[in-house]
Amino acid sequence: MELFELGIEGLKTLLDKKEVTPREVLDSVFSRIDAVEERVKAYVTLTREKAEEMLAAGNTGVLSGIPIAVKDNMCTKGIRTTCSSKILENFIAPYESTVTERLAKAGSVFTGKTNLDEFAMGSSTENSAFFTTKNPWDLGRIPGGSSGGSAAAVASGECAAALGSDTGGSIRQPASLCGVVGLKPTYGRVSRYGLVAFASSLDQIGPITKTVKDAAIMLNIMAGRDPLDSTSAPVPVPDFTKAAGMDVKGIRVGIPKEYFIEGMDPEVEKAVKDAVKKMESIGAIPVEVSLPHTGYAVATYYILATSEASSNLARYDGVKYGFRAGGKDLLDTYLQTRAQGFGPEVKRRIMLGTYALSAGYYEAYYGRAQQVRTLIKRDFEEAFKAADVIATPTSPTAAFKIGEKSADPLQMYLSDIFTISINLAGLPGISIPCGFTGGGLPIGLQLIGRHFDEETVIRAAHAYEQSTEWHKKRPSL
Ligand code: GLN
Repeated sequence: MELFELGIEGLKTLLDKKEVTPREVLDSVFSRIDAVEERVKAYVTLTREKAEEMLAAGNTGVLSGIPIAVKDNMCTKGIRTTCSSKILENFIAPYESTVTERLAKAGSVFTGKTNLDEFAMGSSTENSAFFTTKNPWDLGRIPGGSSGGSAAAVASGECAAALGSDTGGSIRQPASLCGVVGLKPTYGRVSRYGLVAFASSLDQIGPITKTVKDAAIMLNIMAGRDPLDSTSAPVPVPDFTKAAGMDVKGIRVGIPKEYFIEGMDPEVEKAVKDAVKKMESIGAIPVEVSLPHTGYAVATYYILATSEASSNLARYDGVKYGFRAGGKDLLDTYLQTRAQGFGPEVKRRIMLGTYALSAGYYEAYYGRAQQVRTLIKRDFEEAFKAADVIATPTSPTAAFKIGEKSADPLQMYLSDIFTISINLAGLPGISIPCGFTGGGLPIGLQLIGRHFDEETVIRAAHAYEQSTEWHKKRPSL
């Protein structure tokens, strides 16, 4: 096996035993990047120099010498943070995000900033202002989104692990479509300081990795209260790696009947149902649960997320950040900057959100959506009386073809039908590989847990993963 194929745990074992050096690891990953990046296009910016500096700094910690990729919506001091948007194309943040700071202190080295849908709005990376990332399993297909660059980089061996952000599915869906692991922690578990805001009541940062254990290792470092983010929760952080290794005897796995609907892709349905059977065979107890407000989740999300986005993105006016178009006066400068700087999907969402928040409509749209959000949250509270984790598909289909859905925003929005409710309820969720389509595309299983119970999620995911071979498969690029 080549070094670039290994994840965090695999590399750590070799590094700790001094069988390889951090230098060899970094060289292996960068030669892999040289070999495949032209085809995959996972990175907006490669940061080899920064990686060399970090290696030379020689921080010793849990992630000593581990090459990690960072989604390009997290601020990195001295390295541009573009959000894959023209409006931030040359923006260099004057400060470092808390997550990247913590990973750096733990010794990791950053390979680069990965591509995303502009401002994390999308499910395919086709909304990137720069280029579309390709799915390493089939270069004619999308890698999912919005953290498509991170997922593709992990799957193709262009890093050992990566950071993603998830507002409605953006860690889990690309992980699913690229055949890797993606963990969205509970809202408040990980500091969002330095994450460029999309929808602040939904956004959460998490790891995209090759194995469940690797996700636990990263979460250990990322999690915990941060005085710089008032929404980060002052709850204790357990050692998540301990949960990766416990059996699932007696764990109740809830299957929401509303998630196995007619018209669902039969290959996805079969893979997920087989995964539940597999979990049963190793001691878990399947139970049926009901999430009756599931049908309202996508509509609710697209009111709340666009409203928050319209407010968050008001700051890009050509004065404070990045790109500025020359206008004839101040107002014209604002208008020109925003007209030229934002792409079509971002504009669509700003307009939707501004409308939903406007006087006279606020109660009918935003107020109503908040109420439905509470109902969705209560559905989960009820379901978690009968179940310890809930199992669903991550995405209704495997990776689709580039261009297939870009003309129809609604079709694109529906690709998050199984992931969005989890953000609305603020719960932790993971996507892990659970099979392949006949055409050789990965399928993902989503496991959802109670608030701040990432441990049970990791425990169940790891036990399932270890009873299968799916996570060992890699694309032949
Ligand atoms: N695909 C969803 C959207 O377009 C979710 C994006 C995300 O989680 N950042 O909003």
